[in-house]
Amino acid sequence: MTDIKSMTLEELTAWLKDQGEPAFRAKQIFHWLYRGVSSFDEMTDLSKALREKLDSLAFLTPPQVARKQVSRLDGTIKYLWELSDGNCVESVLMRYQHGNTVCISCQVGCRMGCAFCASTLAGKVRDLTPAEMIDQVLFTQLDSGAPISNIVLMGIGEPLDNFETVMRFLTLVNHPEGLNIGMRHISLSTCGLTEQIDKLAQYGLQLTLSVSLHAPDDETRSRIMPVNRSVGVEKLMDTCRRYFQTTGRRISYEYAMIDGVNDSDRQADLLAGLLKGMPGHVNLIPLNDVEESPLKPSRRVAAFQKRLERHGVTVTVRRRLGSDIDASCGQLRRKAMRETEPRRERTGGDSRETGRKEDEQP
Ligand code: SF4
Repeated sequence: MTDIKSMTLEELTAWLKDQGEPAFRAKQIFHWLYRGVSSFDEMTDLSKALREKLDSLAFLTPPQVARKQVSRLDGTIKYLWELSDGNCVESVLMRYQHGNTVCISCQVGCRMGCAFCASTLAGKVRDLTPAEMIDQVLFTQLDSGAPISNIVLMGIGEPLDNFETVMRFLTLVNHPEGLNIGMRHISLSTCGLTEQIDKLAQYGLQLTLSVSLHAPDDETRSRIMPVNRSVGVEKLMDTCRRYFQTTGRRISYEYAMIDGVNDSDRQADLLAGLLKGMPGHVNLIPLNDVEESPLKPSRRVAAFQKRLERHGVTVTVRRRLGSDIDASCGQLRRKAMRETEPRRERTGGDSRETGRKEDEQP
């Protein structure tokens, strides 16, 4: 069976030709896929025979809304999607003045083990497919009615740990006959997989690379981000320098402010030293309070920002959206997993038994 929505228009054309169908059908089917149909039967301008043929050869994997939280404060919407195999991932719709942005997941869980992140607490279950990534954008748009103009790959999972899928997703989402979202409107976040950053640089894409730095020294970074134990800050920064030289694209460095861990004046000085002579931008992130985590939000965000600015570093502080909902990455999925555990035991592990729920926040 063929995962039809993970194919490019060109591949779909060739595949249909192999099935003895004319080329013009490909565009017709492609358009239906990006209208968010859930079955081939909804492709009403195709003959019944062709719809049945497609149904016997290919499959679609539309996600279901398992939970939905809407912020009363700023209209942020957090979706928990149930995938066709019962696993769940999250997406968040954020409304900015420059347009609507959706933050999407690329894996079910994550194996990177960052200490401040709820997504990694139960490890990685599997990679998402390109279609499952596309559908998070498409179905967020369809459900909310908000046209999406920007995408951030910053949800559950490490994008560069699912490299080929993410590359295919970027091709698909950028396609003029599909969602047509330009590369300059896409940000990809990585915890710092150096080999894959070098590989990505070779594509010369105009997207924004965000590197989750979170500490300027090996001791601290290795403590909160296990990936650093094999790479190290120096090697990561060398890779970032190469990325900039190859692509000409400024990197955004993400820095989650953690109380008493990475928020001292000394660490601000070290961070400024790392960025010296390298065009880049630091995004300070006020940490979300994750129930299970001993790491707490820093109270020194403004002082840290000032100190960096005195060194000439360009700094922004990320605006907290959806602070009245489970807006931190992986929190909603964890909550749902905990709540469905007794039911899973009863039903032999089929989380689909839980059905659809919708949480409107008070
Ligand atoms: S921060 Fe990103 S890379 Fe680190 S564990 Fe969470 S999802 Fe994985």
